[in-house]
Amino acid sequence: MSLDSTTYDALVIGGGIAGQESALNLAEMNYKVLLVEKDVSIGGKMIQLSKVFPTLDCAACITTPKMSETARHPNIRLLTNTDVNEIVKDNGLFHINLTVRPTYVHADLCTGCQLCEEVCPKVIEDKYNSNMVGQKAISIAFSLANPKMAAIDIEQCIKCKKCVKVCAPNAIDFDMQPQNLRVEAKSVVIATGFNLFDAKHKPQYGFGQYPNVINAMQMDRLIAPTRPYNSVLRPSDGKVPDNIAYVLCAGSRDSSIENAEACTNGCANNPICSQICCMYSIKQAQLLMGALPMADITIYYMDIRAFGKGYEEFYMQAKGMGVNFVKGKIAKITEKNDGSADLVLRYEDVTTGKLKEVKHDLVVLSVGVLSDSSITQTFTNQKVEIDNLGFIQSAHELVSPAKTSIEGVFVAGAASGPKDIPDSILSAGAAASEAAGYINNLSAN
Ligand SMILES: Cc1cc2nc3c(=O)[nH]c(=O)nc-3n(C[C@H](O)[C@H](O)[C@H](O)COP(=O)(O)OP(=O)(O)OC[C@H]3O[C@@H](n4cnc5c(N)ncnc54)[C@H](O)[C@@H]3O)c2cc1C
Repeated sequence: MSLDSTTYDALVIGGGIAGQESALNLAEMNYKVLLVEKDVSIGGKMIQLSKVFPTLDCAACITTPKMSETARHPNIRLLTNTDVNEIVKDNGLFHINLTVRPTYVHADLCTGCQLCEEVCPKVIEDKYNSNMVGQKAISIAFSLANPKMAAIDIEQCIKCKKCVKVCAPNAIDFDMQPQNLRVEAKSVVIATGFNLFDAKHKPQYGFGQYPNVINAMQMDRLIAPTRPYNSVLRPSDGKVPDNIAYVLCAGSRDSSIENAEACTNGCANNPICSQICCMYSIKQAQLLMGALPMADITIYYMDIRAFGKGYEEFYMQAKGMGVNFVKGKIAKITEKNDGSADLVLRYEDVTTGKLKEVKHDLVVLSVGVLSDSSITQTFTNQKVEIDNLGFIQSAHELVSPAKTSIEGVFVAGAASGPKDIPDSILSAGAAASEAAGYINNLSAN
């Protein structure tokens, strides 16, 4: 079977850390894999991160070699900027209908020189930097993108075509059309990850209303080596913050979220623990103590859940470094009306039972994990079951967590529930191994 053929051993959907790991595991076993990613680059959320708990290894240093290996592996065909439209199981084979959306830039001609980006006059929202700095309507998604090529956001482009004039290899093509593909696969691995809770659905926290209330992904970008500014600066005035608060469980363990849109699958609340927020907040607090040695960092929490290997020690290390942990649920955040754009947090201190108000100059909301199971709607003649919160339902959580309700369809990473990176990688290995066994049995029968 060649990689140009239309039949693959496995279709892996999603190019985050879990999808890459599943695809690489299968490819190393000599299976032919088609990896489909909806964004213009693979990488998922991990490529946005600064460092990772509990080792504080640089996230990009771990994930970029894996992205290169995935993109270049002789047994993996990678399609980015691609939609999965329909998956039909017939006679033991999955028939898949895909659309490769046009980037309006020919990948084989683009050299990644970014001259087009320099001349483009249109600034649009910047997904990689969590909308903190903006990017051009034609741009490379981020410096570590793979494939590293420019792409045009055609909806936002004003079609001045200045980019065409500066592109020496003539890579830009405004007539590029969507490409529809039909392929077959013997198995499918769903690795479509998760959505972050949109903190606007907790209006009492003021996200989107007060500039100095940010979310944790924005803070991970502010402290990453590929960060947008050369220091941690607060949005309202570019001041270096010196009194930062973390609000844990922002959109997790919370049954009071009334706006149904907050949950992608229509649930009206998010009662579960997102499993990663305590640890990523403790990680960020430690990194901030290094980046801003004079700053005070306070973490407001209900419980600290440091459940993994080395996590409790990591928590203790943060305490030892001087991070202030306060047991109390934040009820409301308001902005001071003295023109400072500082924030006042109102909370009940659980240890004393007293209501308190305290001032901080930057607040980070440790936002939770929500499901994104929209991919299940593409399976038209069989149903991939989801759980009551919209995550992919494992066929048997304890015995075979990587199996789903459809034989031959497996799940990896946070698509089946909140997971940190080590657990996402473990589950991706399990999904690849289950898929390999399934493909072998098909061939033997
Ligand atoms: C602020 C923050 C900090 C964190 N810090 C840490 C840390 O320090 N250590 C740690 O262990 N974990 C950390 N995590 C958790 C970590 O991000 C996750 O464990 C990891 O991203 C899960 O990987 P995944 O591949 O399952 O999902 P994702 O990273 O969400 O990747 C899913 C991929 O699938 C693609 N996709 C989705 N739908 C489709 C579709 N229909 N078709 C094609 N492609 C699709 C997406 O575009 C994406 O590329 C952090 C998370 C956050 C939010």
